Amino acid sequence: MKEDKLRQKVFENNWYTRQNRPKISETNSSIVEIKIELYFEYISATKIEKHVMEIFRPTDPFYFKIDCINDECLHSTLDLEPEIRNMLYEKQETRTGEKLCEGYNNYTQYLYKGNSCLATMKYFITIIYNK
Ligand SMILES: [Zn+2]
Repeated sequence: MKEDKLRQKVFENNWYTRQNRPKISETNSSIVEIKIELYFEYISATKIEKHVMEIFRPTDPFYFKIDCINDECLHSTLDLEPEIRNMLYEKQETRTGEKLCEGYNNYTQYLYKGNSCLATMKYFITIIYNK
């Protein structure tokens, strides 16, 4: 598959998955807000850094896949759903950690099943529950 078609297909699949997810309130009715703060770092020719903060409301879909900082990345593995599900299970309010993107570095690496992206993402998750 050509690169633009492949990227379009990945984008559409993610979009479709997100649309079809239950709402956060349907997954867990005690959630008021989920705040995710992210610090990305990716080293290619130069070092790129990015800080992102996202707030999820009860009416948002229960979907926490994160866009990789590396624009060329394909099949990024950055997804905070397991962490959030675990926090909900343990009724935890905050969690921090770090993830490494194991998607393909770029389209060429995807074709030859070569190098992983290896962008790093530090995350700080805060869940506010209603009392
Ligand atoms: Zn990546």
